[in-house]
Amino acid sequence: MNLQRYKTRLEQELLLRKQELERYDQTIQQMVYDEKRYSDHLADMALRDQERTLHAAHTERLMTQIQEIEEALRRIAQGTYGICEQCGNPIEEERLDLLPATRLCARCAQDLVT
Ligand SMILES: [Zn+2]
Repeated sequence: MNLQRYKTRLEQELLLRKQELERYDQTIQQMVYDEKRYSDHLADMALRDQERTLHAAHTERLMTQIQEIEEALRRIAQGTYGICEQCGNPIEEERLDLLPATRLCARCAQDLVT
């Protein structure tokens, strides 16, 4: 397995996600938390709440992704990258190509869903 290749990819991905999160944070501050954008109408307040919930969910998703990538990089450093956490078998390389931050092999991931 070409570890260096995954490491480079994960590092790039991490940088992108962090930039996106930063950009996104600023957007939220400017848009969603600008009270002047909303009137005191009930419908407007509902829209505000809805937008905030949406943005919070997206931020959370980004943070989870960042965390997963950081964990994957840690596993590379520790030499446990590409090993399924569930069954201890090597994770398929095609799967790692698709999801470089994954912790589970295809079968265990499938078991988790079903
Ligand atoms: Zn497994």
